[in-house]
Amino acid sequence: MSRVYNFSAGPSMLPDFVLARVKEELLEYRDTHQSVMEMSHRSKEYLSIIEACEAKFRSMLGVSDDYTVLFLQGGAYTQFAMLPMNLMTVNRTADYLITGSWGEKAYLEGKKFGEARIVASSEDKNFTYIPEIDASRLNPDADFMHFCYNNTIFGTSFSSTPSSIVPLAADVSSMILSKPLDVNDYGILYAGAQKNMGIAGLTVVVIRKDLCDRSPVDIPSMFSYSIQQKNQSMFNTPATFPIYVLSVMLDWLDEEIGGLAAMQKINKEKSSIIYDYLDESNMFYGTVEKSSRSDMNICFISEDDSINKEFCAAATAAGFLNLAGHRSVGGMRASVYNAMPIEGVKALRDFMSTFEKEHK
Ligand SMILES: *Cc1c(COP(=O)(O)O)cnc(C)c1O
Repeated sequence: MSRVYNFSAGPSMLPDFVLARVKEELLEYRDTHQSVMEMSHRSKEYLSIIEACEAKFRSMLGVSDDYTVLFLQGGAYTQFAMLPMNLMTVNRTADYLITGSWGEKAYLEGKKFGEARIVASSEDKNFTYIPEIDASRLNPDADFMHFCYNNTIFGTSFSSTPSSIVPLAADVSSMILSKPLDVNDYGILYAGAQKNMGIAGLTVVVIRKDLCDRSPVDIPSMFSYSIQQKNQSMFNTPATFPIYVLSVMLDWLDEEIGGLAAMQKINKEKSSIIYDYLDESNMFYGTVEKSSRSDMNICFISEDDSINKEFCAAATAAGFLNLAGHRSVGGMRASVYNAMPIEGVKALRDFMSTFEKEHK
């Protein structure tokens, strides 16, 4: 195999372990004599896959019986709306932290269902830092407080869970399974699978069971946490193959990496390789405050825009793909999710360093 290093923000690269296992099991899954892609979602063969996937996910992340795990579709974008549609239904008001485009999009959807209040924002410095939260601004009557843990586009991340007096709701799309997380601090967590959990088409929601009771009966059934919970993610056909791929991802994390604490250590080591280089470089610099740096999405830039363009083109030609920053910020972004091997990060650092020497 001759594979590129893919620094895409998502869909992103998969571990060789996962690709090889999926290939091995693609035509005939174990002793079922059929492909997972062909199975009825209600067959006993498939039920054993989805049940094992949920059990592995619960044990990997430490999800207690107080929470329901839902395997839905529609991406994080759908959750931006589903969350207020279901949960902003007690006092019809919720608090939002705005630390980037995703938090903002969630807030704009929230406004459609009640009073959405911005309680902290880093927009004043183009989302280059994680703001302090002034506890006096938090509304004790808010139905939830929403934030985006890792800001995929701007390359910032919370380093720990913010404290909250109401149920916390978090978009963890670009950090889930990258490090341990105390699920008990949250009312609801949600994430698309295409960053750290496999392939596009699956959205995982972890929600405290009692919160599902808030779902109004007059909302569309597909968008009701309560109905999805009662039907154990089988109200309609779930994303059968992406759920299977998640299950293989969890095997990789367990068998090859050794769990989330080990994954966090590797992820820190990977991001440090690039950040250390950026801190030394005379050509490129990191765009966010050091204390807010993300270990998943590393944003950097050179003052000279022609250098930025030339760098992206040269990197692509050398097999380092998708390094251009998000269209809303420019510059460069290296997304180094769980599956990016340390060799890929070292190779990128060496490439950047050589590029810098050649362009002095
Ligand atoms: C990628 C991403 C999204 C968008 O996810 P979809 O699955 O495309 O809806 C939302 N939030 C964050 C933090 C992301 O990284």
